[in-house]
Amino acid sequence: MTLTDPVSSTTSTAGSTPADDRPLLRTEIPGPRSRELHERRLAVVPRGAAWTLPVYIDHADGAWIVDVDGNRLLDLGAGIGVTTIGHANSGVADAASEQLRKVTHTLFTITPYEGYVRLAELLAERTPGGFAKKTLLVNSGAEAVENAVKIARRHTGRRAVAALDHAFHGRTNLTSAMNHKAAPYASGFGPLAPDIHRVPNSYPFRDGLTGAEAAARTIAYLEQRIGTRDLAAVVAEPIQGEGGFIVPAEGYLTALQEWATANGVVFVADEVQSGMGRTGTWFASELFGLEPDLVTTAKGIAGGLPLAGVTGRAEIMDAADPGGLGGTFGGNPVSIAAALSVFEQLATGEPLAAANRIGEVLTAGLRALAAKHDVIGDVRGHGAMIAFELTEPGTTIPIPGLAGRISQFAGERGVLLLTAGSDGNVIRFLPPLAVTDGQLAYALEVIDEALAALL
Ligand SMILES: *Cc1c(COP(=O)(O)O)cnc(C)c1O
Repeated sequence: MTLTDPVSSTTSTAGSTPADDRPLLRTEIPGPRSRELHERRLAVVPRGAAWTLPVYIDHADGAWIVDVDGNRLLDLGAGIGVTTIGHANSGVADAASEQLRKVTHTLFTITPYEGYVRLAELLAERTPGGFAKKTLLVNSGAEAVENAVKIARRHTGRRAVAALDHAFHGRTNLTSAMNHKAAPYASGFGPLAPDIHRVPNSYPFRDGLTGAEAAARTIAYLEQRIGTRDLAAVVAEPIQGEGGFIVPAEGYLTALQEWATANGVVFVADEVQSGMGRTGTWFASELFGLEPDLVTTAKGIAGGLPLAGVTGRAEIMDAADPGGLGGTFGGNPVSIAAALSVFEQLATGEPLAAANRIGEVLTAGLRALAAKHDVIGDVRGHGAMIAFELTEPGTTIPIPGLAGRISQFAGERGVLLLTAGSDGNVIRFLPPLAVTDGQLAYALEVIDEALAALL
């Protein structure tokens, strides 16, 4: 599709970005065809499955998404860190279409195929830790976390599970019980899975604690409120995603893991959002020298196709009896073909370098904005997983509503920005790694404008 008139220059005063790097807006956002589709949607899709920006997408490429009205928008969310390798990535598209024509399903636990084995080998190689590992493939992040918990319980013979404050692990019954936020994930959906406990995390911007101090606090809670007699697993996102890209203080995660190991507790790193090259390393655990017993993956693993995994120490993964793990669609051959292409591309090192470059551009740009707008209290993250937190100037008191208004303002200018944080006061960047410096510069200009206009 060729788009000629850069109408965005009439809706935005942001000036210095070349037209090639700017959204092209042909209509207001959302446009008339999107509005029409939205009306149809409201009649047939429950409101619980909500929306961020109700533009209906026709096609996508790199970091662009093009809607049904012909508007080209800049996607800095990648479907929540899923199309990390880029929208409509040709390697993913070729691998998946070739597989589609060969075989789409047999069920790996009935008649197996090589792709599953190959992907398990690659995950064993790339997840942190030099020990023997095995992998179970499933369909979603929540299903991966559920299986990690099942396996840890079976392995330890214990029942309790600990998750951290500000955690997010999914929307199934078990994972809803593990999330920090009751609303909208758990409220009214009970009874929830029992024996789930939440313990304090490390949140340097808010708690000011060193890694050792924060770990001591977490461990005290674990020992006093649960006890190692019953504790099967500690589940932690190395960098918390929905919680607002909270990067724990140096030494926190390794101290927690050392304690877990010493007490026979399985340490699970939920890398569903932070993994697969997102942070400029294959897995965020590497940034902290962490070698988790089990690692969960999903989101970015297959370039947009549904796939998830639990990878970990062979002796733990083997705890379940034959037939105890699996599911009809788990390890779908088409999704696996896409994932193998993602692995191949990540292995060139180029996407990881791109993630690091994106991190530098965003961090420098957001720090400059923070110097100008004192409501930006913190800029944090690694690689292409960067966020800023909006607080009352000079404090850690969240400003409610502003992040949502910035996201709305940006959306109307063709820039899709996601919010995060338990208080909803964080803007997070999860761009496809194909995003250009010019596109990022444009997004920063729009945020600058938004802060000037909204405050
Ligand atoms: C998104 C997410 C999940 C849930 O994944 P789904 O595929 O939506 O079930 C679990 N853990 C983390 C850290 C996530 O970001």
